[in-house]
Amino acid sequence: MNKPNTNRPLASKPAISQRTACLSAAAADAIRDIYQRLDAVIAGHQPRCDASGRCCHFDAYGHRLYVTTLEMMYFADAMGLAPLPPTPRSEGNFSLPQLPHQPGCPWQMDGLCTARDARPLGCRIYFCDPANQHWQPETYEAFHREITGLHDRFDTPYQYTEWRAALAGYVKMETT
Ligand code: SF4
Repeated sequence: MNKPNTNRPLASKPAISQRTACLSAAAADAIRDIYQRLDAVIAGHQPRCDASGRCCHFDAYGHRLYVTTLEMMYFADAMGLAPLPPTPRSEGNFSLPQLPHQPGCPWQMDGLCTARDARPLGCRIYFCDPANQHWQPETYEAFHREITGLHDRFDTPYQYTEWRAALAGYVKMETT
C-alpha cells in the first residue's frame, strides 16, 4: 500500500481509456522488470509480514491503494480480467458500471495475497512492520516515477486510480 498517498481523493470511476487499451508484450516486460528490481530492494530491507491482512482491508485500516494505468493493465492481463464495456446511455454519452463497494481487496484470502506476482507497486512496498517504514515513501516515489515514465514510452494515458475503483471496471474471464 502507499502510505504517502492516503489523503488523495478516492476516484469514483475507472476511466474508459484505462479499461480499453491492450498491454503490449514490451510494456509487460518493462513492468515486470521494474517489479523484479523493486522486489530485490524490498528483500534487502527484510520487512516482517505477520499475515494480519490489515493492509488490504482498506476501510478498516484507513488507507488507500492507488494504481497506474499500465499496472492495472498488467494485473488484468495476469489475472485473466476483461474490461467491462461502457454502457451506452444516449448517443455520445456513456456510463460506467457501478459495482458494490468492497471494504477490502477481493484477492486477499486468510490474510494473504493470492495475486502476488501481479500485484501493483503499492501492494509490494507497504509493510505495516513498524521497524520497516522509513524506506517506503522514498522507494515508492522512485519506482512510481519509473512506471510513470513508461506511460509516455508506450503511448498510454497515465491515470492514477484507487484500487477498488480500478478493479470495478473489470470482470473475471471464464476459464475452461
Ligand atoms: S492485490 Fe494482494 S496485496 Fe494488493 S491489495 Fe489485493 S490482496 Fe492486498
